[in-house]
Amino acid sequence: MTECIFCRIVAGEIPATRVQEDADTLAFRDVNPAAPVHLLVVPKRHIASLEAAGDDDGGILGMLLLSARRAARAEGLSEGGYRVVVNVGPDAGQAVFHIHLHVLGGRPLDWPPG
Ligand code: 5GP
Ligand code: ZN
Repeated sequence: MTECIFCRIVAGEIPATRVQEDADTLAFRDVNPAAPVHLLVVPKRHIASLEAAGDDDGGILGMLLLSARRAARAEGLSEGGYRVVVNVGPDAGQAVFHIHLHVLGGRPLDWPPG
């Protein structure tokens, strides 16, 4: 059995509030939300991080962005706006090494982040 927590969520082995899914991507609610809407969008296939993505992963990386937009729209964030974040590696605080897009919205978001 895989140790990767997001692979296990994709497989349904760990519960998560799934909000959108297609053949290649899954969006679910972050368990520790940092904003009124905080979704995570992941590829169903394991890619550890943006640094680990290959030159031939452009297709799935683009699909992740489009899935993030679709989920944000479904959450009613299009008008007010939202932020899409990818943490990469230790300085960014990446804690889960299965690439994921954070979709944050529902309140004004400070810039720059900490
Ligand atoms: P990172 O710092 O790696 O970019 O973000 C990882 C995110 O995953 C965090 O916001 C954290 O709250 C979320 N997370 C960690 N474990 C789980 C889990 O088991 N379920 C869900 N839904 N989110 C998780
Ligand atoms: Zn994984």
